[in-house]
Amino acid sequence: MAKVTHKREECIGCGACASIAPDYWSINESDGKADLKDAVKNEEGLMEVQIDESAVSENMQAQDSCPVSIIKVEE
Ligand code: SF4
Repeated sequence: MAKVTHKREECIGCGACASIAPDYWSINESDGKADLKDAVKNEEGLMEVQIDESAVSENMQAQDSCPVSIIKVEE
């Protein structure tokens, strides 16, 4: 398992994550920011979810494509 975190309040809604990894990321129609599927807020205020190893590569691409560097994948 790996962990993905998202500093959602700093999201600029560019849509890169959702186009690269649509199984895990989508753009919320109400506020235009990205939602990380099944994520819950952690004690640091970041949205966080555990993912399978098979999902790491796709989410790493999302991490590397985020223009404001608010996606982190930790193995
Ligand atoms: S790539 Fe980053 S800034 Fe763009 S929508 Fe996703 S989380 Fe937000």
